[in-house]
Amino acid sequence: MRNYTQFYIDGQWVDPIAPRTAQVVNPATEEVSGTISLGSAVDVDKAVAAARRAFATFGETSAKERLDLLEAILAEYLKRETELGEAVSEEMGAPMSLACGFHTLLGKGHLSTAIEVLKDFKFEEQRGVTMIRKEPIGVCGLITPWNWPMNQTCVKIFPALAAGCTMILKPPQLAPYSAQILAEILHDAGVPAGVFNMVQGKGSEIGTALSTHEDVDMISFTGSEPVGVQIQKDAADTVKRVGLELGGKSAWIVLDDASLATNVAAATGGMMGNSGQTCSAGSRLLVPNARMDDAIAAATEAANGVTVGDPKGNFAMGPVVSKSQYEIIQGYIEKGLEEGAKLIAGGLGKPDGLDKGYYVKPTVFVGTNHMVIAREEIFGPVLVIIGYDDVDHAVEIANDSNFGLGGYVSGEDLDAARAVSRRMRTGAIWVNGGFDFHAPFGGYKRSGNGREWGEHGFAEYLETKSVVGWNQA
Ligand code: NDP
Repeated sequence: MRNYTQFYIDGQWVDPIAPRTAQVVNPATEEVSGTISLGSAVDVDKAVAAARRAFATFGETSAKERLDLLEAILAEYLKRETELGEAVSEEMGAPMSLACGFHTLLGKGHLSTAIEVLKDFKFEEQRGVTMIRKEPIGVCGLITPWNWPMNQTCVKIFPALAAGCTMILKPPQLAPYSAQILAEILHDAGVPAGVFNMVQGKGSEIGTALSTHEDVDMISFTGSEPVGVQIQKDAADTVKRVGLELGGKSAWIVLDDASLATNVAAATGGMMGNSGQTCSAGSRLLVPNARMDDAIAAATEAANGVTVGDPKGNFAMGPVVSKSQYEIIQGYIEKGLEEGAKLIAGGLGKPDGLDKGYYVKPTVFVGTNHMVIAREEIFGPVLVIIGYDDVDHAVEIANDSNFGLGGYVSGEDLDAARAVSRRMRTGAIWVNGGFDFHAPFGGYKRSGNGREWGEHGFAEYLETKSVVGWNQA
């Protein structure tokens, strides 16, 4: 049992001002796995005051001082990487191989990337009589979700630290353990008091207190669209900068010249990874109508081949994060059946033999882009295959979405695939796979605003100042 009932404020572990706890449930067992404290607005006030005091000095540190600090954090992170992975697996149900693999690798990658970006970044640029300076924006509120806990926290904390900002992290109630360990890592690495603070609790209380706070300069949020809208409204009165990374309903277009079997299998497997709880997942798979039968055969085989079970065992997929997430996903599967989508794998209920734990069957439908299952973010292992007539039709379907986060194009003719990528209205597109920590990540349309990852993510935490007359004409 984990007992994480203190907050990290001003360089110390402190009790909440008004004691109140909540239990954390292991999604694989449905048993309580630990306890956290739920903070209140007064804890946030304390943390913001500490961050404001610390900003006076940390905001003035040199890039070299911050580089040394980030290197020290990396050394501590590497010591506790396995522990972080175990915490991720326990809190949100990712299989151990994934939690101790890609989950923690993402955290480490964002840390290393922040170091690389800071090494080369030019904070000052002279143009004629003017000096253009980049300066840290100030005190930041970082509000994160449970689906990729290490990714979501590290993609905010490390660029913010690299920029010279101070911060208050509000981790998700459903997945609070890895954030606690991360706070210990920052402490052990010697992050100065007040630079990093963490208050656990409810989004509607801690999150709102941060978004409305007079002395917070910026909110960076990842999560659902309705909460993103609410944060934007809450932050409006104090004219904060707000970065929003929201949902997606990303299309994966398999072009006519691509290997159908390979790409449909990859897209299906990709959708089931992390139990489908990935904002940029390719949840709409677009294949040529003329090859639909082959696509169905490949997707059925791939989905039926995804093993589901205990995160500690050797399975490809664990449970989804919570009972309510399980029920939401079941509701969408039911909706797909009601709408007349053709179920070709998975379906309602739990996989055979998995009565305990929030396990969902890897599910694939063939449907149309007008169906609810093709329009709303399900955030579970549910793929919808949609047929297209020609490339124009494929692009039209891909862009016919309220969201615009990710996109995927598979094709042998690289020029043709690139041409399709140019026409897709989304913030990030993968052509025949690939991975890049420096590629900006964020959304068009209702998938949010602002960009994370690499130099663009770092720039989110900077203000621009022009000093005219720096050079006298
Ligand atoms: P939320 O958007 O509700 O939660 C994300 C974070 O925001 C959590 O830390 C949450 O706190 C906090 N929060 C909640 N309400 C507020 C508020 N009013 N002001 C400030 N912060 C707040 O996502 P859920 O976890 O409830 O997931 C719901 C749906 O969101 C999913 O089904 C999925 O569709 C989508 N989602 C999308 C993600 C993405 O990466 N795009 C990530 C996660 C979810 P608390 O701990 O109290 O929940």
